[in-house]
Amino acid sequence: MMKIRGIRKRFGKQQVLNGVDMDVNDGEVIVILGSSGSGKTTFLRCLNFLEHADEGTIDLNGTHIDAKTAKKRDIIAYQRQTAMVFQNYALFNNKTALENVAMPAIATGKKTKEEAYALAGELVDKVGLAERKDFYPSQLSGGQQQRIGIARALALDPKITLFDEPTSALDPELVGQVLELLRTIANDGATMILVTHEMKFAYEIADRVVFMDKGVVLEQGTPQEIFEHPKEQRTRDFLSRFT
Ligand code: ATP
Repeated sequence: MMKIRGIRKRFGKQQVLNGVDMDVNDGEVIVILGSSGSGKTTFLRCLNFLEHADEGTIDLNGTHIDAKTAKKRDIIAYQRQTAMVFQNYALFNNKTALENVAMPAIATGKKTKEEAYALAGELVDKVGLAERKDFYPSQLSGGQQQRIGIARALALDPKITLFDEPTSALDPELVGQVLELLRTIANDGATMILVTHEMKFAYEIADRVVFMDKGVVLEQGTPQEIFEHPKEQRTRDFLSRFT
């Protein structure tokens, strides 16, 4: 269970996050929707401290973090419970697929080298790339690179995984394979927060859809509630662009 309260973040004069609250239940899949610039990426980055929020608290399975007062070691302990999948995959180009998956778990001290490589082998298999485990990212398609990015996140055995538009950099014909993998992970019971512009997929996979606008959660509900009966005009305007 994750409880997020009052996340605020400013860049210069721009107040990007204006107090975001969110509860995430174990095993829940939350999809965040919102217009460009509404703060979705910044929110995810604040959730794993790639950006340090100005204010706000996060409770994750007994770990309490207050952005204002958190010490470096508290942040590191908290970060070890989260993982993030990026739009642009963010793989190490000079490492093979298998090394990319194994390395973070070794670097964070979560696994020994042997354990990490054994798990990485299983995960590379799970994402359907066993035959390409020794390939470098440049030898893989975008969809394959992203599947490695997802395997790397899973290798950290996170309490929560954050996905920032994981298919938006992909050629349309490669999107399906990554969405299929995300579906499998969700069905396995992973707790996920996912930013996506894939509306049909969002409808199918989300337990809850959260609509962000101007740095706050404007409304949230089941996919049926948000897609079929949005209460807010801004949500309606946003969704009308996709029909
Ligand atoms: P998109 O759907 O286009 O990815 P988003 O909802 O994810 O948009 P963010 O990427 O969170 O929006 O950006 C919100 C606002 O914060 C934007 O106006 C952006 O320019 C600004 N912003 C984000 N990161 C920084 C930064 N490091 N420095 C300054 N401004 C930033």
